[in-house]
Amino acid sequence: MGNGRNETARVTRSSINGKNGRATYLTSLCVWPGLYSHFTECDVKLADDLTFAPIDESFWGWTNNATGASILLHEYGHVLGLDDMHNNSSNFNIMRGNAPQPWAGGNTTEPFPDDAAGIGYLYGGRWPGAIWGTNLFASAQFIDPLGSGLITTDEMKIFPVCRGSQFKVRITIGNNGAYDVTSGLRLYMNDTGNPADPGRTVWSGTATMPHWTTLTQQLTFTIPSNLTPGLYWFFWAIDSNSTVAEWNESDDTVHCAMSVQVVAC
Ligand SMILES: [Zn+2]
Repeated sequence: MGNGRNETARVTRSSINGKNGRATYLTSLCVWPGLYSHFTECDVKLADDLTFAPIDESFWGWTNNATGASILLHEYGHVLGLDDMHNNSSNFNIMRGNAPQPWAGGNTTEPFPDDAAGIGYLYGGRWPGAIWGTNLFASAQFIDPLGSGLITTDEMKIFPVCRGSQFKVRITIGNNGAYDVTSGLRLYMNDTGNPADPGRTVWSGTATMPHWTTLTQQLTFTIPSNLTPGLYWFFWAIDSNSTVAEWNESDDTVHCAMSVQVVAC
């Protein structure tokens, strides 16, 4: 700090008071205080026990140090000028004050719509050209409106169900791009657990997502009456017809933490 360079370092957790990460900055003194002060230097420290491999957001219970990628993105959010957003029903964003920060489909870490809106406010405008300004994603998480924080959309549990019966799945989709987008939305189930396995479509429709928004909703569908009995996973995919050119095409599908044991009854 104070050498005029923006630096990122891994440090012992104890040296940052047990936190996952910390961003510290210097501001220009000539205009301090006021709206027009600006960062002259910003350094990021990350706890050196963090790991950076993608984690599956469908399942809760990862340890705190498995969230390195989201902590790094959070600290760089500070570098760009965003403040911590403390946890409440509206803070479904990387700038949440506490870990874990949310992940998107395909277990990717990226700015969430509220983060993108903040950067849009600070730096203005939209990246010109549709693809760099366009991205939809699916997530298995949302913020519980009752205030218990970031949770998975449905609990990790296997439910026995009869073929032909009705079932409900709660899904989250988001648009962290700068443009409003309408695309296909598909809910499907398969017995392989592989998102690339097209399985059986159980619900399909269209979603219109305004820019910088998320939507969590419950969908009701019927378990197909001719489905082979067995264990099935649910997936939902936004841009399900691949008609939207996006800057991240790998975050459109996610699986539900919940699965079902389909019984012939
Ligand atoms: Zn922070």
